[in-house]
Amino acid sequence: MNLYNNELDVFISVDEILIEKLVKIGDLYFPKEYGGFLVGYYNETFKIVYITDYVLPMKYENTSTSFKREPSGLEELFEELYIKTPSQYYIGEWHTHPNGISKASSLDRIALNKIAEDKSTPIENPIMLIIGYQRENITLSFYVSVNGKLYEYEQRK
Ligand SMILES: [Zn+2]
Repeated sequence: MNLYNNELDVFISVDEILIEKLVKIGDLYFPKEYGGFLVGYYNETFKIVYITDYVLPMKYENTSTSFKREPSGLEELFEELYIKTPSQYYIGEWHTHPNGISKASSLDRIALNKIAEDKSTPIENPIMLIIGYQRENITLSFYVSVNGKLYEYEQRK
């Protein structure tokens, strides 16, 4: 699956099998929200991000309308991803919207912009994937935070 943001001229490349896995994991926690971290790498111009993997949090709090994860306890896992070839690292977040659409809520927007500003996260422009679960209908939205603003990616055929 390839996604594009025209305004920023940036791309996401992600394997559909990875998305299917995340949909299945999220479904296990239905009707509560669930999520975790997205892992991947950028090309040398930073225009394309390849989402290659995911990490599930060891600590989290979730309700039917909220999801909060903690990064603690995952240092070794991220280290193992980092020493792979190509080197893979944290590139953003994912979470589900049970009985909802994949559009970012105002809290999601605030959360992603905060992560972008947070100096302890290693990247300036984190990605957010939201998976919306409605009866028989799964929707996906991908966003990136740039200078305190969220931009949405569009799917490309
Ligand atoms: Zn959300």
